[in-house]
Amino acid sequence: MKITGTLQKRAWDDGSVPPPEQIRPDIWSIPVPIPINPLRYVLVYLLASDSGIAIVDAGWNTDEAWEALNAGIAQAGWSIADVKKILITHIHPDHYGLAGRVRQASGAEIALHPLDGALLQTRYEEPDELISDMEVLLQDAGVPNEQITALTRASLEIRSFVTTSQPDVQLEDGDKINFGKLDLEVIWTPGHSPGHVCFYSPSQRLLFSGDHVLAHITPNVGVHTQQHANPLQDFLASLERVASLDVDEVFPAHAYRFLGLKERAEEIIAHHHRRLNEIELLIRNNPGCTSWELTWKLPWSKSLKNEPLYIQRAANGEIMAHLVVLETSQRIAREGSKPVRYFPVLPET
Ligand SMILES: [Zn+2]
Ligand SMILES: [Zn+2]
Repeated sequence: MKITGTLQKRAWDDGSVPPPEQIRPDIWSIPVPIPINPLRYVLVYLLASDSGIAIVDAGWNTDEAWEALNAGIAQAGWSIADVKKILITHIHPDHYGLAGRVRQASGAEIALHPLDGALLQTRYEEPDELISDMEVLLQDAGVPNEQITALTRASLEIRSFVTTSQPDVQLEDGDKINFGKLDLEVIWTPGHSPGHVCFYSPSQRLLFSGDHVLAHITPNVGVHTQQHANPLQDFLASLERVASLDVDEVFPAHAYRFLGLKERAEEIIAHHHRRLNEIELLIRNNPGCTSWELTWKLPWSKSLKNEPLYIQRAANGEIMAHLVVLETSQRIAREGSKPVRYFPVLPET
């Protein structure tokens, strides 16, 4: 992997936000700040044509983000009123949050995969069902009773960072989007979210990878009430899929752009296989353990103890995603509910 976003990398290392940059004759990258989040900014991409612009992702719904987006678009010589299309990689608030406000200001159409579109209502408007499903999920995970309420509600305040505008256009796998000189193909890459998509330009050999492939971290892939049953299996298959594309440069949604998609995708796949082995071994050594116990036994890049509750819950979701893969490949077995306990499957002798 070779980092091509050198200004972005420098900003990443020194804790600042990089400047907007022209990265192709018709493409700009515009960093849009994310409040109180270690990712710090989302990279919105501006695509220019003779008759207006499109953006890939939009940013969080804060005034600071709105101003940064407007300023970046102005620096590229356009204004927010020129936006014709808002192409969204997935539903998370750092990507979808500002979409409604951009549409209001420009009349642009919002495009999103239907599987993520279907989650909008319960996620941001009527979360009651989601909350009760999450409670059951956390009880099954083995979270102690006194922590369940706080963990269930750990990310509800995030809702204020999204305007829940319904999309105008559904993005399906294989859809072609021609915008200016750019020929984009929609690549459905479920895993990080059920309806995550990447945008691939075969002629320019580049990929807008959203959160699917990032240079600096592996994205969260977790069991969640709004996820497919086996999200890690989806994610690994989606990584293999993008690894086979003819791509030079990757334009991710966070941190910095880079070369070496195949190599990076394979690194992430290998990371999850190591994690699967680690978890299987822990279960062999601690038969009957719960997913919450495993979450606290495993090493993480940063100590979980000091992380906010929504990160702890996401870590547990990630462990559960690995447990589903281990279980479906019959490397472990589950027993009971509230909590579910995990046991090794010993090879037959
Ligand atoms: Zn995301
Ligand atoms: Zn993101």
